Amino acid sequence: MAGFRSLARQVRDPGCDTALRRYSLRKCLERFAPYGHRATWDHLCSRHRFGPEDRELDPGRLIAALDELEEARAVWLAYEEEFAARRRREKHEGLRGLGALDDWHRRVWGGNGVVRCGDPAVHPSDPLPEVLRRLIKALESGPGERCPVCSGPRIEWAGPGDTYEPWHGPVCGDCGVGVPRAVLTSGALARARGERSRSLASAA
Ligand SMILES: [Zn+2]
Repeated sequence: MAGFRSLARQVRDPGCDTALRRYSLRKCLERFAPYGHRATWDHLCSRHRFGPEDRELDPGRLIAALDELEEARAVWLAYEEEFAARRRREKHEGLRGLGALDDWHRRVWGGNGVVRCGDPAVHPSDPLPEVLRRLIKALESGPGERCPVCSGPRIEWAGPGDTYEPWHGPVCGDCGVGVPRAVLTSGALARARGERSRSLASAA
């Protein structure tokens, strides 16, 4: 299976045909896709103005999309490396990790679905590196009340039967990202859960 870097080389290779270069960009998302595969692809297509079936595609747009994705990946991998080093030090000093945060990191290790968007058409429109920097800031500064990406106050709860599958948990009602529980206070989590049970009750 080709790695991210060799796929990235294919995207930039002027000797490859454009359809293959687009296909390679899409394959990059199997290695790194912060919103999940489909939503990240939708983001890159709309931000760099190319369609999934675009026949007259300018390869420059694919490269610009790849640049954005690569920068985001570098931001995230640097954070993961630092996180892993910190955990090693803490273990060495006999400190136990925070179970829930460690589990979450294990699930998204490498950067897939760190802010998963269940609905592929609903995601932030800001550049990916910026979105990840905001998320990292929130992870490092501890739980808050609002969405770590757009600062929106409307945190909802996605569950079975929603379009948001496979994410079950808090979702930003404004920008659409699944919010890691570790960045929300227990009060914000309880409010989000409460909203869900109220809306289920009124639908019944
Ligand atoms: Zn948001």
